[in-house]
Amino acid sequence: MKNATVAIGIDLGGTTFAVGALDCDGKLLACNSYDTPASDQASDICDAIADAIRATVRAAGARLSQVAGFGIGIPGRADPPAGAIVVCPNLHALDGVRIVAELKRRIPSIRRGFVANDAEAAALAELRYGAAREVENLLLLTLGTGIGGGIAMDNRVIRGPRYIIGEVSHMVLDPSSKRRCGCGNFGCFETLAGKQAIIDMALHGLQEGRCSLIAELAGNDPSKVTPELIAEAARAGDELALEVYGRAGNWIGIAICSMIVLCDPDLVVLGGGIAAAGDILFEPVRRTVAQRSRISGFDPANIVPAELGNDAGVYGAAALVWEHT
Ligand SMILES: [Zn+2]
Repeated sequence: MKNATVAIGIDLGGTTFAVGALDCDGKLLACNSYDTPASDQASDICDAIADAIRATVRAAGARLSQVAGFGIGIPGRADPPAGAIVVCPNLHALDGVRIVAELKRRIPSIRRGFVANDAEAAALAELRYGAAREVENLLLLTLGTGIGGGIAMDNRVIRGPRYIIGEVSHMVLDPSSKRRCGCGNFGCFETLAGKQAIIDMALHGLQEGRCSLIAELAGNDPSKVTPELIAEAARAGDELALEVYGRAGNWIGIAICSMIVLCDPDLVVLGGGIAAAGDILFEPVRRTVAQRSRISGFDPANIVPAELGNDAGVYGAAALVWEHT
């Protein structure tokens, strides 16, 4: 590679982070995963990210002088104009850190950097390079421990003046729920369809004495029950497992119905570990949307899986650079 420039994308997580180099045509030239330092010092984490950026540039066959900039997607709330992290619930060492300035100080030849929430980055990735590349209006949900939301309108990902758009994990869907959320509220979306909610529904069924393949697959060890294991049981036809995904899918469908009338998407894209369950989740989601969103005329067939999988965060973070070029 001679004069072509690359954008660096960093997908930061609480336990691991990934760094990739993307060319301006959206080709991923190199990508690697690293352990996030288990340190309460922000400088340790920034040092590790800077080292990984240098390694990624080398692996892409590029020089630092060819780097157009970097983008970083964070699992929390970002302040993009300040290049700062406001709060990262799973990585508190970085709360309040001006991450863009910290990384630029470590690699002075990189002059531009951008920070965004990770769901925003994933939405940008799917919009530019993934499932939504043919449309301009997108609703993306990343279904995991929490539930992230990304919205694109008129071909741009929007976040709002206080960068709140997409914090859908804490939409109250069931005000009568006794399930308390980490945010202090009751009945939030993530307490009904997030990772722990799915596990708890299965464990509750087992505690009631339901006979299920879930117990067998987990070796009768409740701590081994995961959404992936429940999905495996569901695919084998297990009644309890299908019921769990049916209930989670119904809540996701209800949330999507509300969001459709707010943002009028062409496409709804579902990503994250829980969406990997496939049809056993998508079918109840689409069924609920078919039943409850007649007014919008939205075709439930336009609820589709994300295409970029685990790389979405890297693609989207790097794409932030090209959005600003
Ligand atoms: Zn909440």
